[in-house]
Amino acid sequence: MEVSLVYLPDDETEIGARKISYCKKCLMPDSRPRIVFDDLGVCNACRYSEEKVLGIDWAAREEEFNKVLNNYRSKDNSWDCIVPWSGGKDSSAIAFKLKYEFDMNPLLVTFSPMMPTETGNHNREELIKAGFDHIFFRPNQKVHRYLAKRFFIERGHPKIAWDAGVNTIPVQVAVQYNIPLIFYAEHGETEYGGKVLNQESAKLRTFTEVIEHQIGDDPKNWIDEKVSEKDILPYLYPNSNDVDKVDIKAYYFGYFFRWSMFENYNFIKEKIDFKIHPNGRTSGTFTNFDSIDDKMDPLYYYMQYIKFGFGRTVRDASRFIQNGHMTYHEGLENAKKYDGEFPNEHLDEVLTYLDINEEQFNEIVEKHRNDEIWNKNDGDWKLNYPLPGN
Ligand SMILES: [Zn+2]
Repeated sequence: MEVSLVYLPDDETEIGARKISYCKKCLMPDSRPRIVFDDLGVCNACRYSEEKVLGIDWAAREEEFNKVLNNYRSKDNSWDCIVPWSGGKDSSAIAFKLKYEFDMNPLLVTFSPMMPTETGNHNREELIKAGFDHIFFRPNQKVHRYLAKRFFIERGHPKIAWDAGVNTIPVQVAVQYNIPLIFYAEHGETEYGGKVLNQESAKLRTFTEVIEHQIGDDPKNWIDEKVSEKDILPYLYPNSNDVDKVDIKAYYFGYFFRWSMFENYNFIKEKIDFKIHPNGRTSGTFTNFDSIDDKMDPLYYYMQYIKFGFGRTVRDASRFIQNGHMTYHEGLENAKKYDGEFPNEHLDEVLTYLDINEEQFNEIVEKHRNDEIWNKNDGDWKLNYPLPGN
């Protein structure tokens, strides 16, 4: 079937302030923060996926990877690297490969999901049973819930503090245990479209970039009458003297090996009893194996849809298309069915966690709806520039 790739509304004068274009190869709109489109209307994530097939010398990258590991591999049975580990397919695949294919001795470090799911708990336990040491950090839930509510109200993003913790705790542990090597998964800005400063930034993680893109400010700014200096400890990056003393280097695994979340899933499900979403599909998307460990996630992705006009299906389908696991047309069909699905899954528990009622919830959601991209039509919110056929 022929699909029109450029969507032009009939009458541009009636359209709101923001014109949205979609990538001509995947489904991603240019409203994704920091994404760059080239003159042919193709996003930089798609261009990078082409490079992954044709432009990158993966054998040389693997050689570079082996050199890194040879510098760090433990000779005294101590842990030689840290894997920030959610228990999901990506970080589990990395941990498994480091230990059993590259003879490393990784320590897995988890900053707890806000609202852990049974599936996530099960999957973590399965990998630990496969032979791994693990540190699980659960932050003070009085403070964490308070911050979740506050950031949901203020920024439409309940996971800001979580984002900070997930980034700082592995580095805090690295300092504490004197482990100089950390393996993160993929560089999101390179893989999924964003601001790629240089090739080095796709290889070595810089915390400045993480603060700027994910957390948005310094956790010290969160101190108020309810949050003390002590309370923000889990969210603070260790001081640079300590990081320098251990000489910590944090690499992206996805720089050394061709990254694909679907292939990571296929890998890990062969190694452990990796459970998928019990409903067969995660709310808001067609996938059942990704980001299934936190009951907060459906809301997180829904807010992305409210703020930027693309939901979890567009995110997932774009990744599938880029890595050759799905056609553009199949992606569109999935987006039509599932993108922007209301996060009913676990909603009651989420409301309790955030200490708000449904009315307040709806008000907060609407407060964050981007009126440059949305329009109310016959009582329903519609995107001014929807995906073709949506
Ligand atoms: Zn694209």
